[in-house]
Amino acid sequence: MRILLGRLADGITRALEDARAEADSLLFEPVVRLGVTGLSRAGKTIFITSLVANLLDRGRMPQLRAVRDGRLTAAFLQPQPDFAVPRFDYETHRAALSGPEPQWPASTRQVSQLRLSLRVRPAGWLTGLAGERTVHIDIVDYPGEWLLDLPLLSLDYAAWSERMLSAARTPGRAALAADWLAGLGDLDAAAPFEEETAQSVASAYRDYLEALRQAGFSGASPGRFLMPGDLAGSPAITFAPLDPPGRSRRGSLYAQFERRFEAYKRSVIRPFFRDHFARIDRQIVLVDALGALHAGPQAVADLREVLVEILGAFRPGPNSWLSTILGKRVERILFAATKADHIHHGQHSALTAVMAALVADARRRADFRGAATEAMAIASVRATVEAELRREGQALDVVRGRLLESGEEAAMHPGDLPKDPGSLVAAAEAGAERWLDGDYSVMRFAPPVLSLQPGDGPPHIRLDRAAEFLIGDRLA
Ligand code: GDP
Repeated sequence: MRILLGRLADGITRALEDARAEADSLLFEPVVRLGVTGLSRAGKTIFITSLVANLLDRGRMPQLRAVRDGRLTAAFLQPQPDFAVPRFDYETHRAALSGPEPQWPASTRQVSQLRLSLRVRPAGWLTGLAGERTVHIDIVDYPGEWLLDLPLLSLDYAAWSERMLSAARTPGRAALAADWLAGLGDLDAAAPFEEETAQSVASAYRDYLEALRQAGFSGASPGRFLMPGDLAGSPAITFAPLDPPGRSRRGSLYAQFERRFEAYKRSVIRPFFRDHFARIDRQIVLVDALGALHAGPQAVADLREVLVEILGAFRPGPNSWLSTILGKRVERILFAATKADHIHHGQHSALTAVMAALVADARRRADFRGAATEAMAIASVRATVEAELRREGQALDVVRGRLLESGEEAAMHPGDLPKDPGSLVAAAEAGAERWLDGDYSVMRFAPPVLSLQPGDGPPHIRLDRAAEFLIGDRLA
């Protein structure tokens, strides 16, 4: 009953908020909530920083129709309306990218938000008649890892533990899990709870999750263990999976972990989905597809699985808790392969095709819910220039940039992406250890030293097209 009341209360609160937001936008100024997500290091921070910089200075945004038509007359940052949500630290990130020795800014660790307001003149025959209006874009940045927690809501502690432990005992993961599993062997889960033991078990589990990530596996739950946000060190994330003890006792380690797992669902997972996720109108999912290709077929197979899980959040089952609180659906979802400046433009369409193949299954399902979806290859900040090298009489298309580690200039040809991305996905699914046609190398480039003309934002690839897909219609 308590669960039912909880669901009901969440549903009613959301419905009221939606009604209020709808009334506000009819009476006053429309608000578009743009969600930006992706796994750690996918490029969320750089995307938001460059998008905002390029909307403030719009010289490099011709593919955004409102800019091309001269109807977007002003853009400015505003105090955000949600007082309790940290603000996306645009100024610090923008400053990091500026100056004679630019740095890549610090990555996303938690949810944050920024309000950018745009003054637009209406399109078409209304242009001369109606006055300008303001459209607010609320950009919500959040770790994709947190979306992986959604399935936990339908599991109890015993079922979740069972899943995590059996995954850890599979051949691909057992070696990484060895220390943690060995520690579990000596543990009596029915013994009275002690905080010290709890902490050491939880920390061994976290080490295993970290090892998984280092090895290129993306999906590890709970999502907050590696991306704790402001929960670092709190009991809500000090638990781990356990085999059930023969006898269950109140006050045992097992019983306490069971309570913490339930508390994690109640006070961490649900509030995130209710307060942030359920309010999103437009979504960009950033994917480091080149990074996964570089890491090999197993990383690609894992990424594909994780994307299916992540995107499951956009299509919850009709009877799930999430569907009761989703007021309106996400109208558009863009899957963007990031860091396209690592390859020559001749390969961009192949990268887009890889991106589309990675999300093909998930995308069919999201389409089913009526969301418009698109796949694209973008670079939020272009750190390279293109060049042609001649090697043994043959022309080779390369990109040139300054390497992040050494600061040296280097030219790179990462390997030709296949014309048929299905072959990559098939090799990944079949469990191949290496790619048949050779490897894809990726170097990390330092951010470019920007010498911008007045009115220009940082150089990018297709950021304006991405913006047109995501918000263009709301600026018409
Ligand atoms: P987040 O964890 O999703 O917030 O990831 P970041 O936005 O911090 O990006 C992680 C790293 O990827 C950055 O430090 C850069 O090295 C690299 N990166 C992200 N976007 C780009 C891009 O457009 N071009 C290049 N060359 N590198 C990028």
